[in-house]
Amino acid sequence: MKFNRLRLIGFKSFVEASDFIIAPGLTGVVGPNGCGKSNLVEALRWVMGENSYKNMRASGMDDVIFSGSGNRPARNAAEVGLHIDNSDRTAPAAFNDSDEIQVTRRIMREQGSQYRINGKEARAKDVQLLFADASTGARSPSMVGQGRIGELIQAKPQARRQLLEEAAGISGLYSRRHEAELR
Ligand code: ATP
Ligand code: MG
Repeated sequence: MKFNRLRLIGFKSFVEASDFIIAPGLTGVVGPNGCGKSNLVEALRWVMGENSYKNMRASGMDDVIFSGSGNRPARNAAEVGLHIDNSDRTAPAAFNDSDEIQVTRRIMREQGSQYRINGKEARAKDVQLLFADASTGARSPSMVGQGRIGELIQAKPQARRQLLEEAAGISGLYSRRHEAELR
């Protein structure tokens, strides 16, 4: 799964709409302390379905909304958009009718957040499955956060197995089976 573009509006320190074109190959993000490098990575995790505000270094999910600084007032909404390259048409059937898939997540203060896939309202589950099938996603081993390596080394066998299953791309299948069993 290749990402083409990440778009942030009012997310954490990115108060103005900010577009990041992700070129093929390796992308590095450099800048002084506090300029928003980690916020960028968190935006990526958030749009892929992260639902723990603690993993966003926040004390509530509304904390991802720009909270004001200097003479700029706080915002009441934040949005992150991720454009995914689907020119090889490997997306799940439900979204596989275009060369690019656009996933957006928008949060309004005190109203929770909402996802869209290609402009159509989607459940968090749909978004999580879209990424799980491609062996990526908010909690996947393809997103290695600070301290995660040490965590993996010290993990109990059960937790380590879960990580390996995510890496092997079968955790999406488990979620689907679980959903099917509930029906
Ligand atoms: P370092 O190099 O130290 O890791 P960094 O580039 O990763 O720094 P971040 O942690 O991404 O920096 O950004 C921190 C900045 O984001 C802080 O200045 C903080 O005030 C700002 N910030 C975080 N959440 C919000 C918010 N909701 N509204 C406004 N600013 C925010
Ligand atoms: Mg950082």
